[in-house]
Amino acid sequence: MSDDCIFCSIIEGDIPSHTVYEDEDTYAFLDVNPVSDGHLLVIPKQHAEQLTDLDPQTTEAVFRTVRNVAAAVEDGLQPDGVNLLQNNGEAAGQEVDHVHVHIIPRYADDGFDFTFDSSDLDEDEAEALLGRIQDRLS
Ligand code: 5GP
Ligand code: ZN
Repeated sequence: MSDDCIFCSIIEGDIPSHTVYEDEDTYAFLDVNPVSDGHLLVIPKQHAEQLTDLDPQTTEAVFRTVRNVAAAVEDGLQPDGVNLLQNNGEAAGQEVDHVHVHIIPRYADDGFDFTFDSSDLDEDEAEALLGRIQDRLS
């Protein structure tokens, strides 16, 4: 619980929200500014700023809920697809500093597009990148 966190206030019931699902560790609710019908957020009840601040047990709980709610969204809303979005840090578009996963149902005509400029992977660069990441994985 963080005093100045909007999502902690939602969990506490101090700010109203539309509950989609709740269990001991996680909470899912409709996004107040949806980008498509059924856009919702899954959060841990325990305050943490970014994904890598979560302990392993809470991480599992969050992604279990994401998977189960996404399945219910697919069955109930019959979208043409579903995007999961999880922003960490201001540069990545994170506006609320409480870990959250967006579940965004997609419809063929929703006019919403994720576009990124991409380039060809450089083989030398790939090896260097692998080294820097894999050194930190146990
Ligand atoms: P971010 O950009 O941090 O990944 O996404 C934050 C999301 O939280 C946004 O989609 C925004 O609409 C949503 N949001 C911010 N404040 C509230 C709120 O008070 N209630 C609800 N339901 N959603 C919120
Ligand atoms: Zn919080």
